[in-house]
Amino acid sequence: ALEARGVELSFGPTPALRGADLTVAPGEMLAIMGPSGSGKSTLLHCLAGILVPDRGEVLVDGRRTDLLDETERSALRRDRFGFVFQFGQLVPELTAEENVALPLLLGGTRRAQALETARGWFARLELDGLERRRSGELSGGQAQRVALARGMVARPAVLFADEPTGALDSLTGERVMDLLTAAAREQGTTVVVVTHEARVAAYADREVIVRDGKVTSLGPVASTTTSPGQVQR
Ligand code: ATP
Ligand code: MG
Repeated sequence: ALEARGVELSFGPTPALRGADLTVAPGEMLAIMGPSGSGKSTLLHCLAGILVPDRGEVLVDGRRTDLLDETERSALRRDRFGFVFQFGQLVPELTAEENVALPLLLGGTRRAQALETARGWFARLELDGLERRRSGELSGGQAQRVALARGMVARPAVLFADEPTGALDSLTGERVMDLLTAAAREQGTTVVVVTHEARVAAYADREVIVRDGKVTSLGPVASTTTSPGQVQR
């Protein structure tokens, strides 16, 4: 499980989180909603060990990650987490397949093996034939699916997605969410997705609202045993 307890974080004088509490169950897909500037991305970054709270605790499977040093935290991010961001953020100098292979290469997989695994994602995400394209030669929806493949390729325990459909039209956005949901279910991946779109949040097992740096709507932790195709870990 993934947990934030009383997390506070300020950027200079600006408080972004003011005592945020959240628990995400293993295998759960959670949507984080809330107004612009309310602290959603900051909360995601704290859960993902990208930012360290000023006060409070962040736990991954009961282990405090806010107490780790930066080397340990980056190892945790590399080994357990995947990331998908709003504009995909592909490396422009690399081909699509190299972008997808990146997390595997960083994890020490041999190049040939990493590229082969990466290529396996192109068919399932309807990206056949685009393996050798650079990111500038992809449409927004294609680039976002490449980013999704990159987020999932190392089979992360947790996928963090911040506005993964924000740059897409609604139909393409739904297609990306369909693929994300299917891949996550298949792999038993926990998904934490920040979104302002209700139709994206509808894919989640549960929604919470962040307001003024706090998680204000805490539904019951969803049962993850009844979801179709769910892999239990
Ligand atoms: P949005 O929906 O617009 O993405 P958000 O809910 O993700 O908003 P955050 O990005 O978490 O909001 O920001 C929370 C608060 O912290 C805001 O007041 C924001 O201006 C501030 N903030 C976020 N990142 C920084 C930063 N790097 N430096 C200074 N202030 C920041
Ligand atoms: Mg944000």
